[in-house]
Amino acid sequence: MMNFMERTLIKDITNKKGQLVLLKGWVDTRRDHGKLIFIDLRDRSGICQAVFLPKTDIYEKAKDLRGEWVIELEGQINERPKGMENSKLPTGLVEVEAKKLNIINSAKTLPISIDTDGMEIGEDSRLKYRYLDLRRERMQKNIRMRHQIIQFLRNFLSQRDFIEVETPILTKSTPEGARDYVVPSRLQAGKFYALPQSPQQYKQLLMVAGLERYFQIARCFRDEDTRGDRQPEFTQLDVEMSFPTQDEILGLMEELYVKMTETLFPEKRFIKPFPRLTYKEALEKYNSDKPDLRKDKNDPNELAYAFVVDFPAFEWKESEKRWDAVHHPFTKTQNPDNLPEKEFIESLKKNPDKFLAHQYDFVCNGYEIGGGSIREHNPNILQSVFEIMGNKTEAVKEKFGHILEAFEYGVPPHGGIATGIDRFVMIMMNEPSIREVIAFPKTGDGRDLMMNAPAEIDEKQIKELHLKLK
Ligand code: ASP
Repeated sequence: MMNFMERTLIKDITNKKGQLVLLKGWVDTRRDHGKLIFIDLRDRSGICQAVFLPKTDIYEKAKDLRGEWVIELEGQINERPKGMENSKLPTGLVEVEAKKLNIINSAKTLPISIDTDGMEIGEDSRLKYRYLDLRRERMQKNIRMRHQIIQFLRNFLSQRDFIEVETPILTKSTPEGARDYVVPSRLQAGKFYALPQSPQQYKQLLMVAGLERYFQIARCFRDEDTRGDRQPEFTQLDVEMSFPTQDEILGLMEELYVKMTETLFPEKRFIKPFPRLTYKEALEKYNSDKPDLRKDKNDPNELAYAFVVDFPAFEWKESEKRWDAVHHPFTKTQNPDNLPEKEFIESLKKNPDKFLAHQYDFVCNGYEIGGGSIREHNPNILQSVFEIMGNKTEAVKEKFGHILEAFEYGVPPHGGIATGIDRFVMIMMNEPSIREVIAFPKTGDGRDLMMNAPAEIDEKQIKELHLKLK
């Protein structure tokens, strides 16, 4: 009907006084005031008030309008009458005098209300109707801010010569300490892909490939039992660089998070430079390896970033009766006495608990928001680390032969870090859970209530995948 006119976004109407504009969006609310009908119209940019005057053609049509109907509205932008301004709305000085109305879509009454912050609604309903839940202002803010954060990360790192590389989702198990999600292969009967717990090995192999500076906004998958705020899939900023010192990596992260916080969240206060504590100090002083260094924990605008460094390399896993890497096996063990390779390996095998790792965590307000390490690029030492962790020599070849071999073709020293995006957005937006900052999160027990996943698959698929269900 009115497509000869170009659409105006609601945020732009204020400086179009006297002009005719075409708006498109959702009816936020409708109010009848005596002879006048008012609606609030909402689009991605904001909300404005439209008024339908009596004795016009569209007045009757406007009587039908209900919340969440999708409409096109042509109208004239007028200054609001004196005393009728709404200082709470950015468009509150003007209103739209409706001239033409096109109802694009009506809407049933929504199963959940969207004009509150939503915290009073059961989470199951919110997740089932997530596409409606996301219409609420709080969620719109969160999802849009998340985008800005990701844009900032991408721009910052690109400007510093990092390039973003996508790594596979269908891959092979890589140890980060959690259970893998597996995908059966149809073409290779009886074989399975694993979804990446992180791109750890790929990013290291990109260093062997000579890319030198890599990052990725990477999805990671970890099949863990429900613990508080975990999600089966989460997003991290994954970074790797060649020829780095630990200080360079931490310095880069510090500059990134300082600039990002100052740019996107000017209301936040934090201490610069970020304190650096050793793991030992953190435990002794704060009884935690992710201490909350805020002075006033009730202040929503106080942040306390810090780095914790010098973690132990190995810890004894009583349940499995074996040593495990505290970070992951690719982490370089510190060799403070500069022992030659053979002696170092012997000593490491004898007393794994005596060694520290070139590992660091990044914490904020008592949360671990990132972690990384300088990597062990000596294939002989790396092989021993796998053995210390209880792998038989043959099993190491089978599981990690590719990376050990890669390290024999000219490997640069390298290291990196990964920082969690979900948790960071959560902290910055003062949200109680990462589910509030993920567009389509899963429930605590791993279900997507909107899509109804996980779901059964049919007989035919099961057969094709060479599976038998118990
Ligand atoms: N792969 C590690 C993790 O996901 C991070 C790293 O070491 O760079 O925690």
